[in-house]
Amino acid sequence: MLPSSARALRDEIAAGRVSAVDVCGEVLRRIDAVNPSLNAFNLVDRDRARARARAIDRRRTAGEALGPLAGVPVALKDNLCVRGMRTTASSRILERFVPPYDATAVARLEAAGAVIVGKTNCDEFAMGSSNENSAFGPVGNPWATDRTPGGSSGGSAAAVAAGCVPLALGSDTGGSIRQPAAFCGVVGLKPTYGRVSRYGLLAFASSLDQIGPIARTAADAALALTVMAGADPADATSSREPVPDFVAALGDGVAGVRIGVPGAFVAEGVDAGVGRAFDAALETLRAAGAALVDIELPHAKYAIPVYYLIATAEASSNLARYDGVRYGYRSPRASDGTVRDMYARTRDEGFGAEVKRRIMLGTYVLSAGYYDAFYLKAQQVRTLLRSDYQRAFEAVDVVAMPTSPIPPFTLGEKTADPLQMYLADVFTVSANLAGLPAISVPCGFADGQLPVGLQLTGRMFDEAMLLRIADAFERLTDWHRRTPAI
Ligand code: GLN
Repeated sequence: MLPSSARALRDEIAAGRVSAVDVCGEVLRRIDAVNPSLNAFNLVDRDRARARARAIDRRRTAGEALGPLAGVPVALKDNLCVRGMRTTASSRILERFVPPYDATAVARLEAAGAVIVGKTNCDEFAMGSSNENSAFGPVGNPWATDRTPGGSSGGSAAAVAAGCVPLALGSDTGGSIRQPAAFCGVVGLKPTYGRVSRYGLLAFASSLDQIGPIARTAADAALALTVMAGADPADATSSREPVPDFVAALGDGVAGVRIGVPGAFVAEGVDAGVGRAFDAALETLRAAGAALVDIELPHAKYAIPVYYLIATAEASSNLARYDGVRYGYRSPRASDGTVRDMYARTRDEGFGAEVKRRIMLGTYVLSAGYYDAFYLKAQQVRTLLRSDYQRAFEAVDVVAMPTSPIPPFTLGEKTADPLQMYLADVFTVSANLAGLPAISVPCGFADGQLPVGLQLTGRMFDEAMLLRIADAFERLTDWHRRTPAI
């Protein structure tokens, strides 16, 4: 069996105790064994992965310097561009799109020696919370394959939880890294807005999107973030804030750390099993020396409507480029009729129902008669929400909430009611609206077998604090060491 952490694997490979090629072979066999029951991968590029692994082994035997991820197999959410590798965002409209360039985050992982093994299934254009909005079908949760792994980065979280890869990338616009990580019992980190370049990420909502790691441990997430973060001339919104060595910042424990808990907000509508795991996690941290502080986020209750107004508005604009001319799919019926008919047919046949719903909602809230009432109002409340957090961070270092109010639900259970699906994002969307970093760490199980995540939200650019607490929590508990039977 493979070492479960990326860092351990890298050390084994660097020491010559195992070859990158053997690791790669093991990973491909594991994917073959479990993917038929998970559907976590949209594409596995065996030849490319083996070639990269061979190159790492050659470097090692030649005595050349190896990067911090040398030989570590990594899976990428299928909305991240890799030159020459089909990238679909799990949409029919991009079913034949092969990017001519690499996403910056991907290029940096590869420069550090990572071996990309393939692309993971996700909700179409990252719109969803269950991975059920995929043109390639839903993904099974490795803990219970008839349940959702969460979304939209469901394939990435399932692949890590099932031991296919120690590390995967996701994207998070309103929770899409953290909620699937919580549902699959692994770690997921959404960095501060601008921390990681978005160049080469197929855009959903550009003021909210961030790329981040999904891993088994906080230390692996810290390593991946250290490798990916930092300014990029190709993304004007990427930050020039210095990037610390996030791994070196681990190990300080939680003594004296102040953890804010918005008790009244959390109490509302949280599943009993989730609530028990959350309370126990807080008690563990308190017993280890953290101070729990009651806080209020008065505008958090508006986060869902604000998010679904802003995200759909931005999506309607971003997705206008899929017109049958420049990328991927064009309706076969495109030649009879006008160019407008061609656009309409292409988009009608190429987009799934949820994506169409969001384009319509977004177009509506941006339209002349409704802009002030919806879009502008949402932006104003977004500012109030951001100041709620600013105020909280005068008294505390992080804010704790469950990642999701509910445990992983059964596939099909919520597809008929989009509003129910949206409401389950209640604890994750505000970090994106405020631009703040947030992490989900495994903190127990509901109903026996269903993973629960503890979410911590931090100050701008203070991922180090989130990783430090998550790492300390891992030393105090063994939830992150549990693996599903699959
Ligand atoms: N579940 C949220 C949505 O459907 C968030 C998605 C995401 O973070 N990409 O929009």
